[in-house]
Amino acid sequence: MKALGIEGTAWNLSIGVVDENKVLSHVSTPYQPKSGGIHPREASQHHADNIANSIEIAIDKADLNPSEIDLISFSQGPGMGQCLRVVATAARTLSLSLNKPIIGVNHCIAHIEVGRWNTGCEDPVVLYVSGANSQVLAYRGNRYRVFGETLDIGIGNALDKFARKLDIPHPGGPEIEKLAKKGNKLIKLPYTVKGMDFSFSGLITSAENQINKNKKTNLAYSIQETSFAMLTEVTERALAHLEKNEVLLCGGVAHNQRLTKMLETMANERDSKLYKPKPEFLSDNGAMIAHTGLKMYKAGVKHTPKIKIKPDYRPDSVEVNWR
Ligand code: AMP
Ligand code: MG
Repeated sequence: MKALGIEGTAWNLSIGVVDENKVLSHVSTPYQPKSGGIHPREASQHHADNIANSIEIAIDKADLNPSEIDLISFSQGPGMGQCLRVVATAARTLSLSLNKPIIGVNHCIAHIEVGRWNTGCEDPVVLYVSGANSQVLAYRGNRYRVFGETLDIGIGNALDKFARKLDIPHPGGPEIEKLAKKGNKLIKLPYTVKGMDFSFSGLITSAENQINKNKKTNLAYSIQETSFAMLTEVTERALAHLEKNEVLLCGGVAHNQRLTKMLETMANERDSKLYKPKPEFLSDNGAMIAHTGLKMYKAGVKHTPKIKIKPDYRPDSVEVNWR
């Protein structure tokens, strides 16, 4: 079967075409804010302006006729309502005009499923760290349960927010990583883990308040060391309690080498293994939506073109019947 997936929950409008074994094409058209963070209205306008063309290019690159696509899937949530609406409308239009089934996919679960597909890990504890989301998940009793999550903002948004204070354009995460590599002094910042949950906004406010007193390299270094240690601690506890031996790192912040290293060290010390998908599958991408839609459809999930968006769609609300 050939499935076309549309991702567009936030900054990246991305179309992927896959079959059961491989990615046939992958076309990303990212939105880049002129200033500040992601503006939902601007991002959704960007998606609306580019979606028809991106779909056409993706089908063309996959060397297919539109009629050869067997399934349309789209990111149903969580995400920015205005962006989700553009994506859902395009997906419904495509489904109706090609007379092909449609599947709405949970964005967080798509990160996990494409990670399992790409790395070959089977039953991992997942650390999903992106702009808006930060969660520790694992499969238990037909669902991806959330064992720990952020109580306020996602780690990516936290890094981007701090970067904006330094006049670094969006997305700031990669620049913070570069600065952090030059830092060597650990500045005390709030380390907030409550049970299995974590919180980043106090840490970022504290770092912002110390900008005039410290080198930005040392602040970037300290933000990374503190927040990534929190994420690693909770991931380790989930691994121990669930008695699993695989860790899957996914989401845009997974590009970060320091976070990868910390998790790798932790996993090795527990006789476990860290898995990290190829870079093209880490950030938001259309292939993950196409792949997950295909798995769901083959497991018997059926949606009608009337399917609605879910801006607050939680991964643990989805019954996983394809595993
Ligand atoms: P996503 O929403 O999954 O596409 O992830 C986007 C987020 O990943 C943004 O907040 C970026 O700042 C962040 N990000 C991307 N690369 C890095 C990196 N190398 N280090 C830290 N954060 C990153
Ligand atoms: Mg994401």
